Amino acid sequence: MTEKIVCAGCGVPIQTEDKENIGFAPPSALKRDVIICQRCFRLKHYNEIQDVSMTDDDFLKLLSEIGKTDSLVVKIVDIFDFNGSWVPGLHRFVGDNDILLVGNKVDLLPKSTNHNKLINWMKQSAKELGLKPIDTLLMSAEKGIGIEEVADAIDDYREGKDVYVVGCTNVGKSTFINQLIKQFGGGGEQLTITTSQFPGTTLNFIDIPLDEEQILYDTPGIVNHHQAAHFISKKDYKLVMPRKEVKPKVYQINEDQTLFLGGLARLDYLNGGRRSVVCYVSNDMYIHRTKQEKADELYQTQFGKLLAPPSDYKGEVPKLKRYDFSVKDKEMDIVFSGLGWITIKGTGAKLSAYAPEDIGVTIRPSII
Ligand code: GDP
Repeated sequence: MTEKIVCAGCGVPIQTEDKENIGFAPPSALKRDVIICQRCFRLKHYNEIQDVSMTDDDFLKLLSEIGKTDSLVVKIVDIFDFNGSWVPGLHRFVGDNDILLVGNKVDLLPKSTNHNKLINWMKQSAKELGLKPIDTLLMSAEKGIGIEEVADAIDDYREGKDVYVVGCTNVGKSTFINQLIKQFGGGGEQLTITTSQFPGTTLNFIDIPLDEEQILYDTPGIVNHHQAAHFISKKDYKLVMPRKEVKPKVYQINEDQTLFLGGLARLDYLNGGRRSVVCYVSNDMYIHRTKQEKADELYQTQFGKLLAPPSDYKGEVPKLKRYDFSVKDKEMDIVFSGLGWITIKGTGAKLSAYAPEDIGVTIRPSII
């Protein structure tokens, strides 16, 4: 029966099962005369954006609709989960529209991070993934760092056009937009935020007026199936995902040693003499050092036990994918998407990194 009811605010079919999904309303809401979904409820009463996710098919429709518009696209990624929070294929669908790339959660990086190097790495990675952004910026939506710069850049690059904000779930899109609402809505003025339905889909956009004519559209977040957040439980995700500025942890390692980041990543140091490596991961992450000859067996027998997180993983011990790296003449970071990175101090080293398929592993010039 419930699927026949539609939201009086935005028109999506109402459902009462899945809080995270579009059209959710608590069962008690069905007793009301006028039924609206939770997202519209929050918007109406608190002027607050709540993120919802959607299916891949709907998402493709949405992207190609954006491609038909003349607009600026703001793509938000989580700098701690760059690969995992990358919206795949965006550039193919948004047509000729400019894309502004924004890396969020910069507050999690140690203060000594070189933002220019990080931005260069983001540009390089974007290029490898087929995207050439008009500009690349960093911010912390939660701590309010860089928001003004991003707002100014949006204003400059949009050249009077509408703006679409896209990103995977969890990148901080709602936090960012709620900050914008606070800023644009400053001076005691209440913004009139509405929702509009996207043609041919069950999606609704949230419209935030930028000026008399132009609008900023919040789009539902896409679930990237390669996001670490979907591979591990919510409880583990909280532990793995840094919540505060990460404190570097230094290890002296020999050629025959291995470091494990819980049971989620492994780094074998193969060649290059005794040296130090620095782990930039959640302060709660368990780091385990062992001899390489014991590493395979340890992983098989201790995954989810000593080597945790994950602490409540269901199913078989995941297969790890191997990546071989050599550090030649520049200090490098080995990045485990969603977990953080390990800086290999000095030059001239050979290493192998391992992680489950869903956690992307890349190398970049050191950003500290
Ligand atoms: P959305 O799914 O993209 O809308 O993401 P949310 O805005 O709901 O944020 C996802 C999670 O990331 C929440 O736990 C936020 O508190 C957190 N978050 C968002 N922005 C930041 C940020 O700038 N820094 C940090 N450390 N966390 C953030």
